[in-house]
Amino acid sequence: MAKYIFVTGGVTSSLGKGIIAASLAKLLQARGLKVTIQKFDPYINVDPGTLNPYEHGECYVTDDGAETDLDLGHYERFLNTPMSQANNVTTGRIYQTVINKERAGDYLGKTVQVIPHITDEIKNRMLLLGKGGKYDIVITEIGGTVGDIESLPFVEAVRQIQWELPEEDCMVVHLTLIPYLKAAKELKTKPTQHSVRMLSQEGVHPNVIVCRTEHPLTEELKKKIALFCNVKPNAVIEAMDASTIYEVPLKMLQEGLDVIVLKKLQINGYAAPELTKWRAFLDKLKYPHSKVTIGLIGKYIELQDAYKSILESFIHAGAINECKVQIVNVHSEFITAENVKEKLKDLDGLLVAPGFGNRGVEGKISAVKYARETQLPFFGICLGMQMAVIEYARNILGFTDAHSTEMDEKTTHPVIDLMDDQKNIENKGGTMRLGAYPCEIKKDSLAHKIYGNTQISERHRHRWEFNNKYLAEFEKAGLLPSGKNPATGLVEIVELKDHPFFIGVQYHPELKSTVENPHPVFVHFIKAAKEHSEKKDSLKAPVLQGEMSS
Ligand code: GLN
Repeated sequence: MAKYIFVTGGVTSSLGKGIIAASLAKLLQARGLKVTIQKFDPYINVDPGTLNPYEHGECYVTDDGAETDLDLGHYERFLNTPMSQANNVTTGRIYQTVINKERAGDYLGKTVQVIPHITDEIKNRMLLLGKGGKYDIVITEIGGTVGDIESLPFVEAVRQIQWELPEEDCMVVHLTLIPYLKAAKELKTKPTQHSVRMLSQEGVHPNVIVCRTEHPLTEELKKKIALFCNVKPNAVIEAMDASTIYEVPLKMLQEGLDVIVLKKLQINGYAAPELTKWRAFLDKLKYPHSKVTIGLIGKYIELQDAYKSILESFIHAGAINECKVQIVNVHSEFITAENVKEKLKDLDGLLVAPGFGNRGVEGKISAVKYARETQLPFFGICLGMQMAVIEYARNILGFTDAHSTEMDEKTTHPVIDLMDDQKNIENKGGTMRLGAYPCEIKKDSLAHKIYGNTQISERHRHRWEFNNKYLAEFEKAGLLPSGKNPATGLVEIVELKDHPFFIGVQYHPELKSTVENPHPVFVHFIKAAKEHSEKKDSLKAPVLQGEMSS
């Protein structure tokens, strides 16, 4: 059986529980332990698949097709191991299971109640991944903030697990905020005291308190927090704001978070942390040799969490290229055929983001046209790939009303169409083409150069697809289907022949990029952007000299 660590949060949301959980997991993994992380979310949606990115940021998708919280992306990026449906549980899913059981008669004769039925179901799922010997440690992040009504059953389940398991098999790490009051020039511990008290009232006492702070905590302050919150002073951990999330594991190592955890769980004989690759990545990230500017064209750009995995993939790909990737967010709704040049002229590469619905698609199409015509490196993901197909159909094949039937059901050239197996689906939750599917890559293509392989597997989340009725015409005109699903023939990758770098993918490569395995499409895209930038610079130079001599 595995040992269990629960991570709760107090005072305010957005403290970065996911990053602390992932950092602790990384350190334990680096010491040779097998670790996984799961997230329990208190909302009633069965999963975040039906949530607007403005509500909940990006929806992350696992290999087994689960639509999950974006924290699972952090877990994968830090641990370099795939997560699954079991790693993300919501209140909605718990209730759905219990209600289905009730309807099936499993509780016949009994009143179904929060305690014990809901808490039992929560406990089953909290302990599930720890059974079967696959993991030494399961870290469970509890979503929300202590004191919320909706997370009470989760905290109660933790209380019961702590009561049921041996002392050394279970512990609680509480993440909290130590605000700095400018006027008083003081860090304040009171909100932390209150949040620990609230957690204790719910029956759970933390073993470690991790304090988010903008200023270093003095020993005196740590002692005060320890005394008032009833933990040992070395169990008060300072978590100063870091310049990158990838630095947090090293900060936690410095603070000894992993050692306190190992002691509490009575795990002896652990190895020194092996973080060579991680440190090398951080070095490259901090000291880049060059810089590129990438335009991210999307309609949710006001909210950075909406494109979390894409932004992180750029960080991984930038580091390996020793290149700083500066992202310029361009709102697709405000791009027109008239202003596109002005908006995109300084870029070294263009990424058209995934998305749903009509808003901003014409802007995306104008951006693709600009990239195609000006030889600007282009990378389209999911809807971005579909926009590239539509742009080519309109401007090269001459199908002026070409569109996706998602946006225009009446188009006479539905070059992107609803997948056959989607046509009779009415429910919205969990019904897209989700998760990992194989893709076969054509030799001598850009995709082949990128992957160095003809067989790949990538993750999906879509309902529409390239309409194979038009395949021959596209191919003849120069837009090549360089990757296809071997079973269905569904086009997974399109690319342009006469262009330095133009690729659109139906899948989501951003969901598989990790610190230790940056995704090859991102890596090659940044490489192409670097070449584009160097070419731009070399073209600039003679002009400058000419100006100077005249
Ligand atoms: N809306 C498109 C589809 O469903 C693209 C989805 C996406 O970009 N994830 O096919």
